[in-house]
Amino acid sequence: MPESVDPEGFVSYLKRVTKLEIIKLPDRKLRLTSDSVERVDDDLRKFMDSMLEAMYDAPGIGLAAIQVGVPRRIVTIDVAQREDEEAKPNPLFLINPQILWRSDDFAIAEEGCLSIPEYFAEVERPASVRVAYLDRDGKPQEIEADGVLAVCLQHEIDHLDGKLFIDHLSKLKRDMVIKKFTKQARGGAKPAAL
Ligand SMILES: [Zn+2]
Repeated sequence: MPESVDPEGFVSYLKRVTKLEIIKLPDRKLRLTSDSVERVDDDLRKFMDSMLEAMYDAPGIGLAAIQVGVPRRIVTIDVAQREDEEAKPNPLFLINPQILWRSDDFAIAEEGCLSIPEYFAEVERPASVRVAYLDRDGKPQEIEADGVLAVCLQHEIDHLDGKLFIDHLSKLKRDMVIKKFTKQARGGAKPAAL
């Protein structure tokens, strides 16, 4: 696509600039605590749609707003195709999600993160959770989940508090991952003119 001309005009330009980019380790923004959303309006819904698009594009099953650099308590999730490839998309939009209850039993699952590409590790978390949140229309909702959805909810809500899944691993493993990604980032940031 030519960079200097924009034959489709302003609309396609807008579309292009609103495409969200997922930030990666060691970006320090990932450690921020996100603020609550105060108003659910069309701008927010538009933003959540862009989040969902970025998530599907990646592809991923969950995304927190901070992963596109926005420190607000917003999460998109769709685990439908994780369980059945033929399943229709079934997106969940969670605004200000809050874990109300965690089960006493734990489950171990392999996790990955769009902000820590191509790294996977087993994490132990409560097997089931109940979460309160505001939906796309700003209506209060509650969801109880186990399996992949429970893992995903806990993983994404962690993001809102600046926490990553590698924080659940041993310090040795975590330090190794952080070192690897810091080295990679440094390698890619060399000035082109040199
Ligand atoms: Zn993640």
